[in-house]
Amino acid sequence: MAVPGSIPILLPVFMVTELLCACNTVQLWSLKKAGVAGTRSWLLANIAMLGYLPALGLRMVLPLVFSVVLSNGLGLVAASTFYIGCARFLGRPTHARPLAMLVVAGIGGLLGFTLLLDSMQMRVVISSGGISIVFAATAWLLYRHREPTHRAAVYWLGAACSAVTSLLHLSRSIYYGGGYGDINDLFATTVPNVFSMSMTAALVPGLSMLAVAMVQEHLLSEATWRAEHDGMTGLNTRQCFETRSMQLLQQAEASAFPLCLVLMDLDHFKQINDRHGHQAGDQVLLAFSALLQQGLRPGDVAGRMGGEEFALLLPQATVPQALELAEDLRLHARGMPAASLGGSIPYSVSMGLAAWQPGIAFPELYRNADQALYAAKQAGRNTIVAHA
Ligand code: GH3
Ligand code: MG
Ligand code: MG
Repeated sequence: MAVPGSIPILLPVFMVTELLCACNTVQLWSLKKAGVAGTRSWLLANIAMLGYLPALGLRMVLPLVFSVVLSNGLGLVAASTFYIGCARFLGRPTHARPLAMLVVAGIGGLLGFTLLLDSMQMRVVISSGGISIVFAATAWLLYRHREPTHRAAVYWLGAACSAVTSLLHLSRSIYYGGGYGDINDLFATTVPNVFSMSMTAALVPGLSMLAVAMVQEHLLSEATWRAEHDGMTGLNTRQCFETRSMQLLQQAEASAFPLCLVLMDLDHFKQINDRHGHQAGDQVLLAFSALLQQGLRPGDVAGRMGGEEFALLLPQATVPQALELAEDLRLHARGMPAASLGGSIPYSVSMGLAAWQPGIAFPELYRNADQALYAAKQAGRNTIVAHA
């Protein structure tokens, strides 16, 4: 078979693709350490893509059966492992078995239509058709199951690029398979060819870059979450609680809605630690945090202010409403001893409540609630005191 003379014209485009694929491989390689699900599969897809174009070039020196099967086989492997990467990342089924069957059937078909019946038309249908199916599934996966906490743009773009890749391969498959285009022009610099090949050359590294962006997005949101939340209880850290409270106070100032702050401190917690051990003490902290989180209304903010001290900011709550909520929490804590290995541990909590008034800044509101909490401790603990 004649060496297609037009490949060298597209060579610079392919070289750019190859270079970008190499850069993405390095990026994914370095991100692999973070252990984000899907990264390894995406890395594999990149490595397969890295081999695809040189394998295609081998048709100039090796018998067709090697270059065709190797390059198109690598293309199918790259598409499938990219899908698996997306599925792993999104926690969806990988469908590895049907994908492996598709790759094996594709390679078998390529071999058959090279060795037994030399049909370039059928080879295009098999490889482009296979890639089209896999990328259609990838587009659907990214569109349908995106991470709700991440920026949507990455997923929209990923789904769009996958859909375009799928359509390009589908049209290539129909155009040559259906006999609309001259199969001998497969690599000729016709407008449809240059268009589809340059698009594919851009889409392949583009999709990899989006995979890198998804991993980074995941790592960033994880790091942000860890910085803003207490590692043990999952509640807001003191700093995050204060920041959120100040934002809510500004909103209350602007919209004139009521707002209450409740500070809570577990009673005689040192004794619990001394009597039952530090680990059992931790179980008490976890039990109380769980109760605290269960009772939250939408918009409420809860935080662990340190040690055995917690805080609850209740926007849109009047003093009687806040008192009712706090009393409910206090009774639940008192009535439900924390479970630990050494048995159940009864505990109680004291609370100080302060109502926000227009013009009061957060430090003053906090001081008021703290004074009320001190009064609750003075009053014998396991009680709630509202700041006058
Ligand atoms: P009070 O009723 O007056 O609040 O007495 P208390 O014993 O609860 O208060 P104190 O401040 O004397 O002791 C708090 C204890 O909380 C001391 C500290 O060792 C313990 N603590 C702080 N953080 C943790 C934690 O993460 N886990 C455990 N198990 N204990 C903690
Ligand atoms: Mg304390
Ligand atoms: Mg205490």
